[in-house]
Amino acid sequence: MKKMNYKNLIYLVVVVLILAAGFTYFSRQTTTEKVSISKIAEEVKASNVKEISVAGNKVTTTLKDNKKLTSEISSNQQITTTLKDLGADPSKINLTIKEGSNSALWLTLLVNILPFILIIGFFYFMLRQAQGSGNQAMMFGKSQARLADDNKKKVTFSDVAGATEAKQELIEIVEFLKYPQKFLALGAKIPKGVLLFGPPGTGKTLMAKAVSGEAGVPFFSISGSEFVEMFVGVGASRVRDLFSKAKKNAPCIIFIDEIDAVGRQRGSGLGGSHDEREQTLNQILVEMDGFETDTNVIIMAATNRPDVLDPALLRPGRFDRRIVLDMPDIQDRTEILKIHAKNKPLAKKADLEVIAKQTPGFSGADLQNILNEAAILAARDNKKEISMDDIEKSVEKIYLGPERKSAVMNEREKKITAHHEAGHALVGHLLPNTDPIHKISIISRGMALGVTWSLPSEDKKLLTKSELSDDIAMMLGGRVAEKVFFNEITTGASNDLEKATKMARDMVTRYGMSEKLGNQIYGRRDELVFLGKELGEHHKDYSEVFAEKIDNEISDMIKDAYKKAEKLITANKKKLGKVASVLLEKETIESEEFNSLMDQVKA
Ligand code: ADP
Ligand code: ZN
Repeated sequence: MKKMNYKNLIYLVVVVLILAAGFTYFSRQTTTEKVSISKIAEEVKASNVKEISVAGNKVTTTLKDNKKLTSEISSNQQITTTLKDLGADPSKINLTIKEGSNSALWLTLLVNILPFILIIGFFYFMLRQAQGSGNQAMMFGKSQARLADDNKKKVTFSDVAGATEAKQELIEIVEFLKYPQKFLALGAKIPKGVLLFGPPGTGKTLMAKAVSGEAGVPFFSISGSEFVEMFVGVGASRVRDLFSKAKKNAPCIIFIDEIDAVGRQRGSGLGGSHDEREQTLNQILVEMDGFETDTNVIIMAATNRPDVLDPALLRPGRFDRRIVLDMPDIQDRTEILKIHAKNKPLAKKADLEVIAKQTPGFSGADLQNILNEAAILAARDNKKEISMDDIEKSVEKIYLGPERKSAVMNEREKKITAHHEAGHALVGHLLPNTDPIHKISIISRGMALGVTWSLPSEDKKLLTKSELSDDIAMMLGGRVAEKVFFNEITTGASNDLEKATKMARDMVTRYGMSEKLGNQIYGRRDELVFLGKELGEHHKDYSEVFAEKIDNEISDMIKDAYKKAEKLITANKKKLGKVASVLLEKETIESEEFNSLMDQVKA
């Protein structure tokens, strides 16, 4: 009996109960016609009996008027002797005896005993289950670190695109793992911990695996969140177990993903979970400090929140090597795409550099996902190669969410949406500090009825004040177009307004871009951990006077941006109308067509 789930068990019990009830009911029905054997003897004496048949212990008597009586005798009794004993002469009647057909007896036995067997079985099962979970509780203290599969192809530095500096730093670690004596002979201490910083999907895990692959050592991986369990003390004992496993397998790498789940600054917690975290963190520190200088185990840990880590983790002798893995730039994106395109048949015309250009802000994991989605698209169409079109479609899908062609808009909604999107595009096109329009579409995606997609011509690390204010005007372009063309406004602009307001607020409170409020930050986010969950709390560190000023400033910025958009749209109504009508006809407009529409149509 392996695992039977509780639902099945409940069904079983219910079925058994119904069966048992059913059998009792039916057997009762037969007993209603039951008479005692002495009654039969009387009937025999009165010569009323036509025939008696015996099957096992069941005696069925048919009277001359065809009435049937049933009675029972015990199986070691003989009907003839019993009748004789009662003074009736059985020789006069027609007597058939069916030998050996005791089926009725077996059935009764079964019906009576089966429920007991099942109930006993049920308790036995429950008992075993309880014991089983007892065993599982015993297993909690064991780390669930996974040893990377040796059969899989080894990951090396050549599988990681870009990140040149990170690789240079890590080559040293590979050397330590491969030739420890070389360093020990010179009295050098082998580093213990390497911390990899970077946003999700930038290849931290991949990089750690590549180090183990290059050095040819085992790779133990565990996630920080796995240390934190419901039971106090489990985390610490998992840490002990993990480190003792690793020491046995030295030289090797321990990789702790999401170290911030345990390594958060102590004392920043609320509620019960932080005690457990602190214990776990302390245990990690104790283990790291306890390593002999010649223990050849390197701990690599990854996080995207270096700011929340406990300073104790970063002290010399612990995670003192820090390596940053950043979002890939355009060159790195091309490289990453090339790596993941290696085992995929791409059409000759597919240009990965163009895709890299279209994907600012995509991580390595996103890029891998793009090619995978493209392969799925191509396979769905029974193609032998992945075309550029497939890849571009999957970029859109990942960037904007999947198209919802089935979401039908009525004519009026379509018309409003077309003008709304054309409004964004027109304002975006005419303002000097916005990104060029890449595509406009009125096909619903996710919650949006339409999209206007603009792309920077090159990767940007800094945003200027003029860019941000022009962006806000572009965000409001949709709403303005609704107002100008239909003299009516809709709920369709809600998301635009939200983004515009947030951007204006950030400009005032975070970037110091308002002249009235000056170069100062207003409010700070406090990190709290409550029952294991993160709470980012906006902490108001300014007075009511400033709160009012901030609100006024945001409101002014939005009003200015609205006016800017309104001016452009009223002055270029014909252009906007043309774009909207092409959108209604074709549903999407690409950048070249949009630009030529803008050039052709006068105002
Ligand atoms: P992280 O641990 O930083 O969240 P991962 O290492 O899990 O990210 O990356 C997820 C996947 O993204 C990897 O398995 C890899 O396929 C791809 N990837 C990310 N960065 C790169 C890169 N620089 N080169 C090649 N592939 C990458
Ligand atoms: Zn909009």
